[in-house]
Amino acid sequence: MTVEALQVPAYRTFAVRVSRLRRLSPSFLRVTFTGPDLGDCAPNGWDQRIKVLLPLAGRGVSDCPTGADWYAEWRALPAERRNPIRTYTVRAARPEAREIDVDFVLHGATGPASAWAEQAAVEDEVALVGPNARFPGPTGGFEWRPPADASCLLVAGDETAVPAICAIVESLPAGQPARVLLEVPTTADVLPVAAPAGVEVTWLPRRTAETAAPPAHGALLTAAVVRAVQELPGRARPSPQAALDDVDVDAGILWEVPADEAVGRATSGPYAWLAGEAGMVKPLRRHLVQEAGLDRGSVAFMGYWRQGKPSN
Ligand SMILES: Cc1cc2nc3c(=O)[nH]c(=O)nc-3n(C[C@H](O)[C@H](O)[C@H](O)COP(=O)(O)OP(=O)(O)OC[C@H]3O[C@@H](n4cnc5c(N)ncnc54)[C@H](O)[C@@H]3O)c2cc1C
Repeated sequence: MTVEALQVPAYRTFAVRVSRLRRLSPSFLRVTFTGPDLGDCAPNGWDQRIKVLLPLAGRGVSDCPTGADWYAEWRALPAERRNPIRTYTVRAARPEAREIDVDFVLHGATGPASAWAEQAAVEDEVALVGPNARFPGPTGGFEWRPPADASCLLVAGDETAVPAICAIVESLPAGQPARVLLEVPTTADVLPVAAPAGVEVTWLPRRTAETAAPPAHGALLTAAVVRAVQELPGRARPSPQAALDDVDVDAGILWEVPADEAVGRATSGPYAWLAGEAGMVKPLRRHLVQEAGLDRGSVAFMGYWRQGKPSN
């Protein structure tokens, strides 16, 4: 590899503007971004994450970093000039049209990303940090890495994981057995998803015409995962002693994914991918590994946000 190639960063910033807005449902807004360099953004598909740098009042995105080490540049700015950063999923990418779709959950003006999305208009400017097509190696930034011989796939998450899960489902090969569980705020948030044969998709709306009071966030998904895992083929025996570090989700991030060396290892057991509110994911982690007997190297657990805490 040449010295020049080694200097190309795996991730870089892209100056973009909103080219289209589509309200998919009460809780989801699809924002299509376009930018002159987006043809050089190379998402890997699946649950590819990117960073969105949101405008600052009065300064917009004029302070957003543009250099090779975007994060160091951002950190070096005085706090009041640092654009807020939040993590989102690439729902779809069309490099030839220099476009990326991101589906934002609208949860009110309680955080900079949701507040921005609630008011978003065509031509609004933000910056994205995404994988760089010019980088000579793998750019990563996704966690969907099931072993080729998994007996069954279990994919579950709340509304923030819906964009990732829909992208994963639509990329699965036909005939791959998979159980997919998605908890969303209301029945109107059930979105169309093109699931191949063999994939069973269940939407779990918290608020329906029949519900007087919606259940707590995550309660429906938790119950559905516990039920679904009992029926997964190829599980090992429960191992209550399986070592699990305690994760304090109030202090840190819950992000436990198979180590690189475990990826692709033959297991012939189930593979599970779970994402959403961290307080919901944490007990499911314990259940799947210690009570349901899933191999810890075959489960990805990701806290996408934390109730009552900003994600910064
Ligand atoms: C890898 C990854 C991929 C993600 N992909 C997506 C995606 O594609 N679409 C998406 O919408 N989100 C996605 N998220 C989640 C998103 O980053 C968080 O919801 C983030 O907190 C939103 O930022 P904010 O500025 O709106 O709120 P913050 O400033 O982070 O938080 C402010 C308040 O809002 C609350 N809050 C945050 N999110 C929600 C929510 N969804 N519902 C209710 N209350 C909430 C917080 O608890 C806090 O009290 C992803 C997260 C990760 C880690």
